[in-house]
Amino acid sequence: MEYIPGELELYLDAESIAYTVSQIANAVDTDSQGVSLTVIGVLKGSFMFLADLLRQIETPVANVEFLRMSSYGSNTVSSGDPHRLDELPDVVVEGRDILVIDDIVDTGLTTKNVRQYLRGKNPASLRLCCLLDKPERRQVNVHVDYIGVAVPDLFLVGYGLDVDDRYRQLPSIYSINQ
Ligand code: 5GP
Ligand code: MG
Repeated sequence: MEYIPGELELYLDAESIAYTVSQIANAVDTDSQGVSLTVIGVLKGSFMFLADLLRQIETPVANVEFLRMSSYGSNTVSSGDPHRLDELPDVVVEGRDILVIDDIVDTGLTTKNVRQYLRGKNPASLRLCCLLDKPERRQVNVHVDYIGVAVPDLFLVGYGLDVDDRYRQLPSIYSINQ
């Protein structure tokens, strides 16, 4: 059995995550009506969710790309100023049906930034999904097309989510005592 440090408390187990992921995949398939998607994962936190979600989606995926956004660093409080750490070529987005995959929407600032950036590259359509949503923490209004689970204002780790780059490997999601 994996070793779980005492500072972690189970929040969402792997089975519940898998169920949530399959629900999102079904919704994406229903809405996509067979039209191929270009999937864009927001790194780093979304890598595990993206890998699981793509294995459940039956809609053809024409391309998978990644966009690296600045993280919290070693902090557990949003910097309030998310920025892109790399660029996507226009041709990747222009005229394509885009599905953005993110781990968690917190203040909404990252999502807003990503949406504006991609919108500026003229996609045919732009949808966004996140596994977790912290509505209490929202600072800006953002539209998220698919939300897995709404969570309270806890700092969560595991299943791709980190604190100072640790705990991303855990198959379940935990809250961390601070
Ligand atoms: P926002 O810009 O919405 O404030 O923050 C979005 C990003 O902050 C998420 O994509 C995620 O990387 C990070 N984040 C927000 N809340 C949490 C959390 O509870 N745990 C972890 N590990 N990262 C979080
Ligand atoms: Mg993130």
